[in-house]
Amino acid sequence: MSLAVTGAVHAGDRVGLRAEEGVIVEMGPDVQPRPEDERLDAAGAILVPPLLNGHTHAAMTLFRGYGDDLPLMRWLEEKVWPIERKLEPEDVYWGTRLACLEMVRSGTVRFWDMYWHPEAAARAVLDAGLRATVAAPLIDVDGRTEAMRDAALRSLDELDGAAERVDAGLAPHAIYTVTESSLRWIAELSAERNLPVQIHLSETEQEVADCLAARAERPAHYLDRVGLLTPRTVLAHGVWLDQDELELIAARGAVIVTNPVANLKLAVGRVFPYLRARAAGIQIGLGTDGPGSNNSLDVFAEMKVFALLQKHEARDSAAVKAAEAWELATGRCAPLLGAAHSLEPGQRADFLLLRAGAPELSFGELPAALVYSASGAVVQSTVVAGRVLMRDGEVEGAEEVLARALERARRLGLAPPTASAQGNSSALA
Ligand SMILES: [Zn+2]
Repeated sequence: MSLAVTGAVHAGDRVGLRAEEGVIVEMGPDVQPRPEDERLDAAGAILVPPLLNGHTHAAMTLFRGYGDDLPLMRWLEEKVWPIERKLEPEDVYWGTRLACLEMVRSGTVRFWDMYWHPEAAARAVLDAGLRATVAAPLIDVDGRTEAMRDAALRSLDELDGAAERVDAGLAPHAIYTVTESSLRWIAELSAERNLPVQIHLSETEQEVADCLAARAERPAHYLDRVGLLTPRTVLAHGVWLDQDELELIAARGAVIVTNPVANLKLAVGRVFPYLRARAAGIQIGLGTDGPGSNNSLDVFAEMKVFALLQKHEARDSAAVKAAEAWELATGRCAPLLGAAHSLEPGQRADFLLLRAGAPELSFGELPAALVYSASGAVVQSTVVAGRVLMRDGEVEGAEEVLARALERARRLGLAPPTASAQGNSSALA
């Protein structure tokens, strides 16, 4: 399979690009299509690397708008968990397909997912053409330790050799939902099989207070003691980490993924100490968290909020510059997250074409336009592994994905029977 892109603009120059078997083989002003190539005429569109979502629960597209405006624990206990007990693999499949559709449309090509029935999520990712690391949330403070461990091993078997574009991982939900012995078990399994681990850490002040009360140590120290702070670990949130913990995380080589919009919406009361984390040398990524708690999967929106929030917190408009926010959003500040290194021959053929005529991108420096004025709507075409997933705004099969996801949401009682796939029918006063 080969693809030729013509008439793109990269770093101010007109370029062409050819990809074979998912890898960029040529890029530059003189690249010409070959007869066997699929063609993609960029017509002056801007060629940029794609975005990466470092933490989400993709299938929770089905929960979007359900129980908004509640505090985290009430939202989970009263709204989310009772419905999740009824989830079937097909719910997760179509919820994840809907998330993938949104990601393709807004330029995200790889994501880190923590959700039930990860084998169904993996199938959705493969069918949608994207890349992901998927893992089931592991929870056993309810006393179901054996069942949890069996399910974790079974899901790893099912995901084994899924495909090149999907990696399996382990996802202990949080230190307050997994027992110490299971955290140690997960650490050993991760080391034995070289599996990445994703876990929510220090999202709320309560989590820190509870950890201190129970163990007289802070969350990152506890995680380190059970063997889970390693170069394979991705920590979501990290809002309430202190300086000591940041230095420990840097020393262990773990990644932190910050999710500013979800933190603001759930009113966690503090801003992720990004500048201190960066100064400590921690690898950092950007995530949306789940569409049930954000509610957007548009990483463009996330990078803007990230940059603004950090500037505001630092009382310094130069604290995080646009180019840095963009770099973070591509995932390239944290190699473990698995983004392609750059757009050049030998690298994966994953890239975006941004609308040449988009008013948001008309003038000024590109990074500032991307971070401060653009949204995911500027993405015109999305390519993953040399395959065109969106061509000039059209994603094949989008109507079916919307309709089937709506059926699943209705089945779970998450969408009213009158809702249509064409649009949300509820009225605003
Ligand atoms: Zn999360």
